[in-house]
Amino acid sequence: MPQLSRRIGRAKPSAIMVIAEKAKRLKAEGRDVISFSIGVPNFLPGEHVYQAVREALDNDSGQYGSNRGADAMLDAFLGHLEGLGLTGYTKANLATGIGAKQVLYNLAEALLDDGDTIAFPTPYWTSYLDIAEIVDAKVELLPCPPEQDYKLTPAQLDAALAKKPRVLLFNNPSNPTGMVYTRDEISALADVIAKYPDTWVITDDIYNKMVFDGVGYHNFVHARPELRDRVIFVDSLSKTYGMPGWRVGFMAGPEEVARAVVTLNSNHITSLPEMTSAAAAAALAGPQDVPEAKCAEFQAKRDQVMDVLASIEGVVCPRPQGAFYVFPDVSCAFGRTHGPSGKAIGNDVELCSVLLEEKGVACVPGSAFGEPRSLRISYTCPTPQLMPGMERIREFFNELS
Ligand code: PMP
Repeated sequence: MPQLSRRIGRAKPSAIMVIAEKAKRLKAEGRDVISFSIGVPNFLPGEHVYQAVREALDNDSGQYGSNRGADAMLDAFLGHLEGLGLTGYTKANLATGIGAKQVLYNLAEALLDDGDTIAFPTPYWTSYLDIAEIVDAKVELLPCPPEQDYKLTPAQLDAALAKKPRVLLFNNPSNPTGMVYTRDEISALADVIAKYPDTWVITDDIYNKMVFDGVGYHNFVHARPELRDRVIFVDSLSKTYGMPGWRVGFMAGPEEVARAVVTLNSNHITSLPEMTSAAAAAALAGPQDVPEAKCAEFQAKRDQVMDVLASIEGVVCPRPQGAFYVFPDVSCAFGRTHGPSGKAIGNDVELCSVLLEEKGVACVPGSAFGEPRSLRISYTCPTPQLMPGMERIREFFNELS
């Protein structure tokens, strides 16, 4: 048989999907499973989005669309950028893709040659590593353990950029930790970035509208407008608008980078579908009551989850201020045994597996995100499931011996 490429040999199926599949299987077997595993927002967009799609369907052009993106969608995205305080961009600075994931993949293709270095903080969103490996980049991980609230420090960044990586990939608010950088923290990191003109900076900020406690969303370009020559902002409809299945992602950055992504699009996806583009324009430009209400709901859920975690001895959890994840350090359980089942807990993967089998709660092991001391709880499940799920987690830890 002919061989597959070396590239595909480096590609791995998503670790998050492995847990989600196991949870699905147990559910199908009739088990009562509460899923805190997949990072889906679990709500639908407002009616105006569906109305826009119905109209687009009635006026279907039957044609291919623009490789960059439909005008109305790009205009709506420019309006969204202005709302975030990211002014001065034009359509020439924009590109779109089938979700932020594909935009990130395109950026990796556009910015990295084989063997170039991409640096990013740990914990990281799983696909960063997978995409880097597929394009054969060298990965430099910048460990940000719970002791530093999972956040990159200016000194760490300085040391990393001094080695001149081609790309720094940054994520704020963070998946998996939910941490949000303050204005001062972003400003201090931007000062470091300004010292190193040879590095592109991708800032994957798709949770920018899901920020709690009034901390606000801050970007390197807010702190230092001159960095717009090197900073590429990535966004998505998936989480903010409850539209992960619609597959719409965006970037705003230097014109030559946007052009490169558009060229790649012209060679694979061609364009986003017309109906999807209409949905995107309506979501971005229309009423924002659904995302605003969901952000408030997630903040309340964050509080409930944190209250339970605080009551479990030995579990340490930096307080997240955005997205819909918490990422507790659960290493206090390692080396212990789950009393009732007698199952040993050696590490995060075993912990998640025993938790799922014995308590019917699905969480993702931290090692999927490069931090094996922790696990990720995604708390977007229906509200009536949240506290029962958290109670089962508390019981599980109380049953360790
Ligand atoms: N970046 C981060 C940090 C994410 O959490 C996700 C989705 N889990 C993505 C990008 C990809 O989003 P999309 O659905 O737009 O491809």
